[in-house]
Amino acid sequence: MKVLVVNCGSSSIKYQLIDMTNENLLAKGLVERIGIEGSVLTHQPANKDKVVIKADIDNHKTGIQMVLKALTDIDHGVLSSMKEISAIGHRVVHGGEKFADSVLITPEVMQALQDCVEMAPLHNPPNIIGINACEELMPGVPQVGVFDTAFHQTMPKHAFLYGLPYDAYTKYGVRRYGFHGTSHKYVSQRTAELMKQDINNLRIVTCHLGNGASLAAVKFGKSIDTSMGFTPLEGLVMGTRSGEVDPAVIPYLMKKLDLTADQIDTYLNKKSGVLGISGVSSDFRDIEAAATEGNELCQLALDVFAYRVRKFIGSYIAAMGGVDAIVFTAGVGENDIYMRGSICSGLEFLGTSIDPEKNNVRGKEQEISVDGAKVKIFVVPTNEELVIARDTNKIYASLV
Ligand code: AMP
Repeated sequence: MKVLVVNCGSSSIKYQLIDMTNENLLAKGLVERIGIEGSVLTHQPANKDKVVIKADIDNHKTGIQMVLKALTDIDHGVLSSMKEISAIGHRVVHGGEKFADSVLITPEVMQALQDCVEMAPLHNPPNIIGINACEELMPGVPQVGVFDTAFHQTMPKHAFLYGLPYDAYTKYGVRRYGFHGTSHKYVSQRTAELMKQDINNLRIVTCHLGNGASLAAVKFGKSIDTSMGFTPLEGLVMGTRSGEVDPAVIPYLMKKLDLTADQIDTYLNKKSGVLGISGVSSDFRDIEAAATEGNELCQLALDVFAYRVRKFIGSYIAAMGGVDAIVFTAGVGENDIYMRGSICSGLEFLGTSIDPEKNNVRGKEQEISVDGAKVKIFVVPTNEELVIARDTNKIYASLV
């Protein structure tokens, strides 16, 4: 039973082919610059050399067609025929309130996804295009939608509601939804496994720190709060996103800078965050290198980022009435030794701190707290594709 996992962005397609009999990765790859000059497919079969295929890739359907060709290619392919793909799992960013779990894609589900487009105008349209392209190219193969928002649907109303007139929620769906749910779910479950404890007894703060960043309070296996909100802009300071600001700043800056609603949206999403503060880069490697050479704004950007994460960790511990583990994942969380140390400095009052030697690790599962710490700190590389493949496999198994 082989599952193709597809993650369509506006100009990209990430994919993985996973054999679910042993959860082995057979191949993975990335189509980039769809509809833009210089489009390219990078295909990495397991145990074989990487292939880079340059071609005009005008749309997602052509992109997926190329992926299928690469997967069945006589030299660098891993399948004898497309028919070996039993099901396709799609990452879908926004499922609104309709989806608290992964679902088989049906015409009704497609309609519900369309209904969510207004809330995720950048993310949901490429997801929908990807599903339609797969349906055209592989008719009859079951497709499953796995939502970034689903894991957070367990948040209680007092956590997801904003202090706005109630009809902003009932009429327009304005509430906190949360994102990165598949990642928060995976790393919290993995942390429980590493601790050899039942997740139903654990309170875990999961820190997904990548270019986009969010925290979740996972109490007894369920998300009870998370830092992203109605959109992935709320919460932490991110690579290029502001995270939370006083909402009154928005009309103030619109007037001062003479910006339209779309322009302020771009300002907050693309020009802010550690890029906006540092003026150097959104990439933590660049910012840390510049800070080491004495760039004060870069050091400030790192301090602002770390402080906001630490503050959220503290608030989630209060929300859960305690904590058993804190876990770091995604690009920064998995790789940034300095940033993990900076975030956790000052958490000694919890009965924990980072062991610098154990913290000297990148992209590997490891406990990094000092021996005997009351609250364990972990690095757990995320694996959203595996969660998508598992959910797809489960739904496929219920069909046959
Ligand atoms: P993601 O969105 O999860 O792919 O994370 C991407 C971000 O991770 C990059 O923009 C970098 O800021 C960060 N990152 C990746 N590798 C490292 C590293 N070795 N040290 C510090 N930051 C890193």
